[in-house]
Amino acid sequence: MAHVVILGAGTGGMPAAYEMREALGNGHEITLINATDYFQFVPSNPWAAVGWRDREAITFPIRPYVEKKGIHFIAQPVSRIEADQNKLQLADGGTVEYDYLVLATGPKLNFEGIEGLGPDNGYTQSVCTIDHADKAYEAYRQFVDNPGPAIVGAVQGASCFGPAYEFAAILHRDLAQRWIRDQVPITLVTSEPYIGHLGLGGVGDSKGMLEHEMRQRHINWITNASVSKVENGTMHVVEHDEEGEVKKEHELPFSYSMMLPQFLGVDPVAEVPDLCNPKGFVKVDDYQRSPAYANIFAAGVNLAIPPVEATPVATGTPKTGYMIESMVAAIVHNIQAELSGGTPDAKATWNAICLADLGDTGAAFVAMPQIPPRNVSWFKEGKWVHWAKIAFEKYFLRKVKKGTSEPVYEKYVLKALGINRLKE
Ligand code: FAD
Repeated sequence: MAHVVILGAGTGGMPAAYEMREALGNGHEITLINATDYFQFVPSNPWAAVGWRDREAITFPIRPYVEKKGIHFIAQPVSRIEADQNKLQLADGGTVEYDYLVLATGPKLNFEGIEGLGPDNGYTQSVCTIDHADKAYEAYRQFVDNPGPAIVGAVQGASCFGPAYEFAAILHRDLAQRWIRDQVPITLVTSEPYIGHLGLGGVGDSKGMLEHEMRQRHINWITNASVSKVENGTMHVVEHDEEGEVKKEHELPFSYSMMLPQFLGVDPVAEVPDLCNPKGFVKVDDYQRSPAYANIFAAGVNLAIPPVEATPVATGTPKTGYMIESMVAAIVHNIQAELSGGTPDAKATWNAICLADLGDTGAAFVAMPQIPPRNVSWFKEGKWVHWAKIAFEKYFLRKVKKGTSEPVYEKYVLKALGINRLKE
């Protein structure tokens, strides 16, 4: 009997645990370990930051749901991975041994890289976790009583841009509904070379459409931007030209700001010798497996993927839901193959599909493959995306409570968008 440990119970780890259970049957042991005892649906955090969702609606306790499926659950951060011993050290001093380890630990949020950034030791808010979104909403409630300029965006080295556009548009909508939008100039500050680049070199006409969406909402922008420091009420932003040379320095006043940080790999993963790239992301082969440790697999944001292209200010490539679903399916297949005497042969499809909510409308894009030129490069905007995103939230939460292992993107989203899975 093998012991498969899945580390991280987020967008990748929860489905991985269920799919592994279904694929391996009861002949093997499965343990899910997560830093917190609850699951959070990360894509809804921008709504929580303006009070459109509360914590109860988008989180739930993990244990009862996974234990029903015969999956052990440990609610403890892992502090150290002893990969040469196949052993994990837990923060409470406990240890867990594994035969296979699936890493789905998501991002470490690098606020420390910029002075004054972030909700804990700085002056900007974040929507990356539900704790941050709750804090952002607390600050927002004070802000709407005393409105002023707002800055939303993603700093240098960021690899997740969609939620910045979402939050700028959601903020616009919420302020307009409160009838105070006229008192809040909003500026989008982003390391992307142009609006709609998204860390993907653009998708279809994402540039034109997102510029249009921002203009429609009177949201100004600064691209090719790096944030040098943030002070209470002032953001120091350096705008670069196409060669990466300094074009202009801005001192932007703000009363409220939400900035997405750079993502790195979490410490216990980054510290494993030979496992990761310099940013702490896990290097994998075609089968989602570490070349250094044949029994370690990885899926999700903690995975190393190369940037789509060099940009004047550093940007990274986003890792989104469809890719993560496909990575999980490949890992489950490959571990099952090994356990039944075969060899791993399943590859993930590193394609990007995203539904971005823009408050009352939305933008959907499909990039297949992620690196241009592409077979499908599709970007559409409309009210239907706003409703599709709400439906997706309800569906995904129901799926991870029920423990079904059906592939959401493969089965529903691609079909709904009228796009068939293409051959790699
Ligand atoms: P996560 O979901 O972050 O899960 C990681 C888990 O690992 C967490 O539960 C964490 O507690 C746990 N963990 C970390 N370290 C340890 C440790 N040492 N010990 C134990 N547990 C640990 N993508 C889309 O496709 N569509 C969207 O609409 C979308 N919206 C997004 C909105 C936001 C605000 C953000 C930040 C990202 C969004 N993404 C979206 C991108 C991506 O899909 C999400 O970031 C997704 O949650 C990543 O899944 P993951 O499993 O890699 O990491």
